[in-house]
This record gives sequence, structure tokens and C-alpha cells, in this order.
Amino acid sequence: MSLTLSLKPPLLQALSAFLPADCRDKGISLDVLRCDLIHPLLSGNKWYKLKYNLQAAQAAGQQTLLSFGGAWSNHLHALAAAASLSGLRSIGVVRGELPEPLSACLQDARAMGMTLHGIPRNRWPDKYDERFVTGLRERYGDFYLIPEGGANLAGIRGCMGMLDTVNTSDFDLIAVACGTGTTLTGLICSTSTPVLGVQILKGEDYLAREVVQFCGQYDLQPRAPYRIESDWHFGGYARTTPALLAFIREFSASSGLPLEPVYSGKLLYALLAMIRQGNIAAGSRILLIHGGGLQGARGFPALSQPQTW
Ligand SMILES: *Cc1c(COP(=O)(O)O)cnc(C)c1O
Repeated sequence: MSLTLSLKPPLLQALSAFLPADCRDKGISLDVLRCDLIHPLLSGNKWYKLKYNLQAAQAAGQQTLLSFGGAWSNHLHALAAAASLSGLRSIGVVRGELPEPLSACLQDARAMGMTLHGIPRNRWPDKYDERFVTGLRERYGDFYLIPEGGANLAGIRGCMGMLDTVNTSDFDLIAVACGTGTTLTGLICSTSTPVLGVQILKGEDYLAREVVQFCGQYDLQPRAPYRIESDWHFGGYARTTPALLAFIREFSASSGLPLEPVYSGKLLYALLAMIRQGNIAAGSRILLIHGGGLQGARGFPALSQPQTW
């Protein structure tokens, strides 16, 4: 059993030269781990979260993978790619009725062979209920179910490998954007370097609870101290402000680092603001995790710079 996927180890890139002067003056150095570049279609942390899920599905003889996400889900996009490259079928259960026309993300997913199944938003909270899942099995046949965002033990274990090619003792802080907290949990269980998680969804404390819940449920021992910043969601998931979009355009243009507004843009904006505010120690050597997700930038017409993903 082998996946026919060819992935590159992520590149480490120096960004210090592109820091604004008021951050450089504090002796901050910044490198970025380009997980967005590991594969042209299967980008970023989503591949790490899918890797062991795919292996488990194949080991169980499952030919079909099913998961959940919104119309711009990086997770469904990556799942469609991973399934197609591995010769597996995929089903994407989409939050809300399927948009007309389909988002570019869902168009890609369908073109990669994913079957799309929209459900009304009010039924979304019940999507893991046995009755609903049984209904999906009656309709589509048996499948291996991956929770939304790849948020399970296999997903965390995959993320424990994200830093495999990095000497983390070269850094004082690792910064990562967080949705479900799966990636953050994998990182804190695999390094002893302190980790900063920037929460990109609204919801006081939900992320901190999630990480504790993961560790308890799966009997994981964090090795790194970690801290979660929950004030940088810009109004909520995928919400933006003109200032955030302008920052992304300007930083991407000057540094060449592609960013999108849902995760990496908010992460870097938050990080620079925290450095300025003195919330991050002067002299820190920071590693930024680029989690990919650049396909999602197509959902923001205000970002007119060419995006490679
Ligand atoms: C999904 C995603 C995240 C969040 O990962 P979680 O493991 O859900 O916290 C961060 N960055 C990008 C680019 C993503 O696509």
C-alpha cells in the first residue's frame, strides 16, 4: 500500500529583510516554513492532516473518503486532490446548499472527482449524528469519515511531522494560524520550542479548550509551552478589513511571500502587531508556519495580485 504522491519537504525561507523597520529595530528575526509549497495541489497543513487518514482508509480497504467543509474549504480542496492522486473516491459534504455558480474551490474539487453534497446550514451542527451519517452511507455506499478540518488523532499525528526538517532549537517561538487547533496540537506535541497560536475564528477560549480536549481524549503530552491569541480574527472566520487586505497586498508584493486573508494574512498581521506592542520579546527568533490555503485567496476579489498556489 503506497500513496502515489510526491511531496517536497517544506522550504525554510528568511523573511527578516522584509520586516518593517519598527520590528527589525527590536532585533526580531523571522523565517517562514513554506508548507504551502510541498505540492502544487495538496498544499500546506491539510496534507499533514490527511496523510495518516488516507493510510488508515487504505489499510481498512476503504475506497471512498468523506469529509465536511464550507464552500471555500482548503480541507475539501486538499481531500479531493489527495483522493484523486491516490486513486480513491471522495465525497465533500458542504455547509449550505451548493452555491450557484460553484465557488472556484468547489469547482476544482468537483473537477478532481469529488462528489459534492450540500446540506442546509441549520443541519450543519448535526452532521456527525448517526442518523445523518447512516443516510449518507445509504446514498453513497460505505466510506471512511474524516471530521471537518481533519481534526482527529490521525490529523494531529500528521502535524507532528511538520517540523521534521527543522532544527527547532534555532528558534525561540513558532507562530501558527489556528482553526480547529489540530495543527497547533501536533506542533506542541512534537517540539519543545514555545508555540504561539493565532485564532482566526471568533469565540473566546474555544481553541484553548479544544487543545486541552484533544490532549485528554488522545492521551497526548504537550512538550512545548504554548499561548493562544484570540483577538486577531478581524470579526470572524474569513472576515477582513481594508487594513488587513492592504497589508496582505503590500507585504506579498514587497517580500514575494504569497498570503491569503483567512489564515496566513491574519497570522502575519497579528505577529507584527504583537512585536510592535512588546507582546513578543525583543530579539526573538521566530518561525512562521505557512499553512498553505492559497487557493482560498480567489474568494477575495480585492486581492488582485497574482496568486500562485
Ligand atoms: C486549515 C488551515 C489552518 C488551520 O489549521 P487547524 O489545524 O484547523 O487549526 C491554518 N492555515 C491554513 C492555511 C489552513 O488552511
